[in-house]
Amino acid sequence: MQTEINLSSHYQKDVIILLCGFSISNNHKPFQQITRPEIITFLDSFRKSEDKVQSDTLRSKQCPNCNEPDKPDSRFCAKCRTVLTYDAYSETIEEKQVKDKQIEEMMHKQEAV
Ligand SMILES: [Zn+2]
Repeated sequence: MQTEINLSSHYQKDVIILLCGFSISNNHKPFQQITRPEIITFLDSFRKSEDKVQSDTLRSKQCPNCNEPDKPDSRFCAKCRTVLTYDAYSETIEEKQVKDKQIEEMMHKQEAV
């Protein structure tokens, strides 16, 4: 598969997981048939309003991938490790960037010796 930019396989996996979650949340509807309100509803589910944080802690969360009931505060599914919140999703990306930076710095030090 030819891609425009060279994304890491890990990042590609995250995007695929996200899109799978989107598809599942719309009862496996083909993407072409998904309407604008459905997309907005899906994106809203990532938004963290005060109200939502409150209600989230009250009800348990179900994994969109394997339907495992997860704890309301879990950010990853306990069973299949699917990313359950946007926070966890962006954190995964950030962690990778930090690691990349550390590796880069280490290589720099090696060169200096
Ligand atoms: Zn799961």
